[in-house]
Amino acid sequence: MNKIKILHMYADMLDLYGDSGNMEIISYRCRMRGIECIIDKYSIDSPQPNFSDYDLIYIGGGADLEQQHISEDLSKCRDGIEAAYRRGTFLFLICGGYQLMGKYYRDADGTDIPGLGLFEYYTIAEPNRRKRCIGNIVIRAQLAGKSVDVVGFENHGGQTHNVKTPLGEVLYGHGNCTRSSHEGYFEKNVIATYMHGPCLAKNPEISDYIIGYCINRSNENAELQQLDDKLEKDCRQIMIDRLLKK
Ligand code: GLN
Repeated sequence: MNKIKILHMYADMLDLYGDSGNMEIISYRCRMRGIECIIDKYSIDSPQPNFSDYDLIYIGGGADLEQQHISEDLSKCRDGIEAAYRRGTFLFLICGGYQLMGKYYRDADGTDIPGLGLFEYYTIAEPNRRKRCIGNIVIRAQLAGKSVDVVGFENHGGQTHNVKTPLGEVLYGHGNCTRSSHEGYFEKNVIATYMHGPCLAKNPEISDYIIGYCINRSNENAELQQLDDKLEKDCRQIMIDRLLKK
């Protein structure tokens, strides 16, 4: 039986707009296919796990305050997370979690919250708190050789710069910076995005990209059985039509 082991970090503090729902979606889509899905949780002062034991590490989004609260603890996990990522563990990161894997996040007060520096990007919050990037967003991503239009909801003051390999091209909304042309960060085993929603409930292709990657780590011939995603895709199409066809 195929099996996926997930570490969900700081679920009690980084859970904006139902970000934890992403783990419910992964778990549901695994259950429908008979894939065993184990989700462990880690938060401040939990015993340090062996991060490399996991196929997927997931971190959701949060307000500046929560990001400050977890940053010291997160820095203690740096070596473990980096080693896991280099050995092929998938990192799925939403908004605040996305920002904290870069070099730093400078919040709206100008205080720097150090990131883990796994990636070259860095984030500076717009000092005017009224000028946040808020609203629905549509991006076009290339996943496993297929072009997919992805929808989500963004709400961030942070402007993320120096992203060399974005997740997608912005068709509607802001993305990495105010009115940016690109959104998120992508590598074979990293998806980082500003999209809440939760993102995976609205975009089954992203869930399946992640699940497919994870099961292929232990079984490279594993085929991902297709699920009936008509409802999810119809809902998404309504949003795309509403936002793009004015
Ligand atoms: N606090 C960060 C910002 O405003 C992240 C917000 C979020 O996770 N939605 O940019």
